[in-house]
Amino acid sequence: MRAVVFTSPDQPVEVLDVDIAPPGPGEVKIKIAGAGVCHSDLHLQRGDWPHPAPLVMGHEGSGVVVELGAGVTNLAEGDHVVISWVAPCGTCRHCLAGREARCELAASVVLPGGVLFDGTSRLSRNGQTVHHYLGTSSFAEYAIVPASGAIKIRQDAPLDVVALVGCAVATGVGAVMNTAKVEAGSTVVVIGCGGVGLSVVQGARLAGASRVIAVDLRREKADVAATMGATDVIDASSTNAIEAVRDLVPDGIDYAFDAIGHTATTEQAIAMLGLGGAAVIVGLPATGARASFEPLALAEAEQRILGCNYGSVRPAIDIPIMVDQYMAGDLMLDELVSDRRGLEDAARSLDELRTGAPLRTLLIP
Ligand SMILES: [Zn+2]
Ligand SMILES: [Zn+2]
Repeated sequence: MRAVVFTSPDQPVEVLDVDIAPPGPGEVKIKIAGAGVCHSDLHLQRGDWPHPAPLVMGHEGSGVVVELGAGVTNLAEGDHVVISWVAPCGTCRHCLAGREARCELAASVVLPGGVLFDGTSRLSRNGQTVHHYLGTSSFAEYAIVPASGAIKIRQDAPLDVVALVGCAVATGVGAVMNTAKVEAGSTVVVIGCGGVGLSVVQGARLAGASRVIAVDLRREKADVAATMGATDVIDASSTNAIEAVRDLVPDGIDYAFDAIGHTATTEQAIAMLGLGGAAVIVGLPATGARASFEPLALAEAEQRILGCNYGSVRPAIDIPIMVDQYMAGDLMLDELVSDRRGLEDAARSLDELRTGAPLRTLLIP
């Protein structure tokens, strides 16, 4: 099959022919319909996160089940699915407690190793192993994933665009609903208005936040946030964002979401909080990045800093609900898609993401 292969940060990603083995026990093969280009692909490509290579990129995707491995009973050929890049093992203590986004097998074997549950890959090239990315590898014509990572959705949803639910939307909406548990009437700031940040904005609207302040360095992206539920927008290229937020909400903010994950934006999110406020780190920095805060101020104001991995989602429960919310008109997905392109445009799409211009580019194999 054709697939977008990453070899090293010094080398452009390229479309190559990759061999794909049949699905093993408990796995399924998916014909990819759409795959979103996410910042976590960019982090990998520019060497921010060490990872075994070569690998097939992509971790946000959707498609049709075309082949079942032995023992798979919860899916059938022809099912439409969104891929969850955390495929829950179902047996570790976090999965048993309903916190699948913390699955120990995913965190210790699948994600860092670039492999599936059994520690091996289904991908190869000229007899040499090619790794999976985040258990997914969706920038390709087909993907093999654990059955628990192929989330069945309704057949009438447009299949390419719902790929976004698999990462950006699950992460952003999940950060609001699951990680932070934003209450109705709360005040919310969202720093960064890309695919994840705009999903946080929409989640805050659905949660009934009274004030949703969107911050971005690009005015046009903050303006998109205003169409998705932001009550106020701040152009951080020309204003001090912390002061601008204080002008709007003098007592400080209940929930500040850092959807960028730079040291500066994490520190800004903490500085924006009021009494009892929580800063939620949703965007991801490079390995080893450090941010600072003043412990006395945090303690006296009973503030919290929350880490958020994959929106703390329960994939099999939350993903179909988010697809329903899209079909009901409560979640805007089409407006998040900047462009649809072929796999051969992956390198160009990653370059553009680096500039901060696009919202979400969908690759259509
Ligand atoms: Zn992602
Ligand atoms: Zn688990």
